Amino acid sequence: MRNVLYCLLASVLSLSACDSRRQVSSEGAGSDTVSVTADTGAAPEPVPVAPPVRTQALFPRDSVAALPDTAFVELIRVDTLFVPDMRYATADNFLKEKVYDCDKCLLRKEAALALLKAHDQLKREGYRIKLYDCYRPLDVQKKMWKIMPDDRYVGNPYGSGSVHNKGAAVDLTLTDSLGHELEMGTPFDHFGREAHHAYTDLPTEVLTRRRILKEAMQGAGFEPITSEWWHYSYRRKNYPTANFKPECE
Ligand SMILES: [Zn+2]
Repeated sequence: MRNVLYCLLASVLSLSACDSRRQVSSEGAGSDTVSVTADTGAAPEPVPVAPPVRTQALFPRDSVAALPDTAFVELIRVDTLFVPDMRYATADNFLKEKVYDCDKCLLRKEAALALLKAHDQLKREGYRIKLYDCYRPLDVQKKMWKIMPDDRYVGNPYGSGSVHNKGAAVDLTLTDSLGHELEMGTPFDHFGREAHHAYTDLPTEVLTRRRILKEAMQGAGFEPITSEWWHYSYRRKNYPTANFKPECE
């Protein structure tokens, strides 16, 4: 079971090393079917039902804590109250192009545990976290650089890249307890001074929300950057840049 969790939760750098992934897939297929009992005497046919992937917490947090430090964890599989809105898996982003195959949000184990902690705090205060971006493979960083080769907007993949490439940065915002996005002063990826933490010419409730988000993230071990209210990096460890592609369902 532990190996299954490792393979599903921990997309290790070399995915091919994960020999039991097929086992996970077959287990998943089994859980997505129900048997129908008929009076015909024939063998019951499996009837497919909607997969429960995003409707229930699949893995307890303890199982995440047991993973190796360099493992990657898909957040929504541990806490289904995260609100996914992975913008780079759509064309609704500043590049106006879809650069991810699917909307997986993965972070390194310790960053993931820290984000779960921040989410716990925010949920107690009546909020939830909406996820805009998480781990970003280096090849995607190169794709973004090709579209916009300007290091004011995209980290240079041939230079220091982005902390997102290390699986240790997250772009996020607050929603209410029902998942409705809250006003934060600017949209995600608005590259102007209004998005800076130091910009205070905003309604009180916006400044309060930015502060609440910042305090929860800093309390969990993340650090902000000055120019983007939505970006937080986990810098307690310097992870290597990664380039595996998350498996889409
Ligand atoms: Zn970011």
